[in-house]
Amino acid sequence: MTKITPQPGIMDIELYQGGAAHVDGVNNVVKLSSNENPFGPSDATVKAFEATARSLHRYPSSDHLALRTAIAEVHDIDADRVICGAGSDEIIAFLCQAYAGSGDEVVHTEHGFAMYPISARAAGATPVEVSECNRVTDVDAILEACNKRTKLVFIANPNNPTGTMIAAAEIERLAQNLPKQAILVLDGAYAEYIEGYDGGAALVDARENVVMTRTFSKIYGLGALRVGWGYGPKHIIDVLNRIRGPFNVSNSALQAAEVAVRDQAYVTHCRDANAKWRDWLAHALGEHGVPSDTSHANFILARFSDENEANACDTYLQSQGLLVRRVKGYKLPNALRITVGDEASCRQVAHAVGQFKGGAR
Ligand code: PMP
Repeated sequence: MTKITPQPGIMDIELYQGGAAHVDGVNNVVKLSSNENPFGPSDATVKAFEATARSLHRYPSSDHLALRTAIAEVHDIDADRVICGAGSDEIIAFLCQAYAGSGDEVVHTEHGFAMYPISARAAGATPVEVSECNRVTDVDAILEACNKRTKLVFIANPNNPTGTMIAAAEIERLAQNLPKQAILVLDGAYAEYIEGYDGGAALVDARENVVMTRTFSKIYGLGALRVGWGYGPKHIIDVLNRIRGPFNVSNSALQAAEVAVRDQAYVTHCRDANAKWRDWLAHALGEHGVPSDTSHANFILARFSDENEANACDTYLQSQGLLVRRVKGYKLPNALRITVGDEASCRQVAHAVGQFKGGAR
């Protein structure tokens, strides 16, 4: 029997690999594999979520006005130019679907987030991977890769899984010099981890070709709820809204996210704890002979001497109930990405890496 074939490009998509959550035979694992907030959501957010339980028979708001207004007030941006999605993944997908198709190119960096090429292919477009310079986004290389087929350029700043970031002036130079038909997408999934950083909102306001994406999955601790948002020029947000399903974000997610974004004291608390334990962990790993680049996010990219050593360390950590992320799929076979957990998890993972390096295997 002949197989019914999907659209061109779909079979080229490599399945997204999520972070491991279980180890056979080990109870009480410490999950440091998905860049989740170790403290979870704030108490006020949990309360808001619980309060929605009795209205599950009602469809959610389709214009997300209350959440967009809260986001706009907190970030001092224009609510009419905010769009909410089922995670920022959905905003990335909308951008590809709306702006890139067959014959078009979608540029992303060598160690960029996996959903950029996946969404590009899902839309029928061709992903174009651009080299980074020692695990840092290289604006000149991106500009060189652009041409008249380039429709979207995705950059995460800070980037996952490297944790590195580039300066606002570099981003501006990139936006300034893109071909005129291309949109620069600034993925700010980890922006809240940097005090005072706007994720690129000011650049969105200053230009017509920049879109910023953000998420509630990281510092707000709401990965399970699937809420993200985008901020862009009115004409682009209007386009994205045409392909957005009317009820793409659930009521529970909308209500919880609205309370979460207004609870900036909690964000500050999580940011401070992350910075403290990230620096401690990077230092401790360094002392054990495991270097990492300065991370601006809630994880560390720990580098080993080769792929074998990285894999052996991962296996050892698993035997200790510690789950981190292999990043070979991100072209970083010698590295492991370790989410910054709470104090106890950071101490445990540093101790275990020390034992591994000291010969315990
Ligand atoms: N962008 C980057 C850089 C990410 O690391 C992630 C989460 N892994 C996302 C976007 C998507 O996050 P979400 O869909 O949960 O908002």
